[in-house]
Amino acid sequence: MLRDLLDALRCPHDHDESWLVAMVHRADGPLLVDADLACPVCGSEFAVRDGVAAFAQAVGGAELEAATDPLRLAAQLGVSDSALPILLAGRSAQAGAGIAAVTPAPQVWINARPPTQDAPLAVSRLTVGARLPLGVATLAAAAVDIPHATPALLDGLVRAVRPGGRLVAPATMPLPSGVRELARDDRDWVAEITTQASGLVELRRRAPDQVG
Ligand SMILES: [Zn+2]
Repeated sequence: MLRDLLDALRCPHDHDESWLVAMVHRADGPLLVDADLACPVCGSEFAVRDGVAAFAQAVGGAELEAATDPLRLAAQLGVSDSALPILLAGRSAQAGAGIAAVTPAPQVWINARPPTQDAPLAVSRLTVGARLPLGVATLAAAAVDIPHATPALLDGLVRAVRPGGRLVAPATMPLPSGVRELARDDRDWVAEITTQASGLVELRRRAPDQVG
C-alpha cells in the first residue's frame, strides 16, 4: 500500500473512528512493503506484508462476472484528476491499469488479485472484511463488484467517498442511503454521494508514522 494512504486508514472495529499507528519495517519508495498497524483505541493490530494491508479475511470472489471495461468504468467514476484515491473492489480492480491510463488518481484495491505488469504503480492493496477501514471523505470515487456490494460495505463507501464523488455498483444491488442515482443500465448503477458523514477528517490529524 502507499504510505499516503495511512492518513485515510481507520480501525474497522466497532468504536469511535480512530486512525492507526504505523511501524514501518520496509518501504520501497512511496510503497510500504512490510509494516505493522495498530489501533490505539482497541489495541487491534493489522499487518502489511508484501505490500498488502490485511484487515480481515477477504470476501469471496465471483469469477463468473463479466470482465469490466476500463474506459466505461473510468467514465462512470468521473474522476479526471484527484489527490484522493479511487477505490476498486474485487473484480473492478481488473480495470485498474486501464483507468490509470485515463486518470493519474491513486488507486486503492480491496480484495483484488495482485496487479499484472501493466498495472498502475500507485496502488494500495487492502484485504478487508465487512467493514471498510477508511475514514470519512478519503476517496474520490469507488466501484464494487457483486460480492462487495453488501449493505455494510456500501454504507462504508458512502462515508468514505467525498460528497459529489461517485459510487458504481452492479444494477442488481440496492442503492444505499445517502446517494442520488445518476445513471443506470442493465449492468450497473452510478450514484453520487450527497451526504457528509462526520469523522476524524475535520480534525486534520495525521497518523503518527515511524520508520524503524
Ligand atoms: Zn480499534
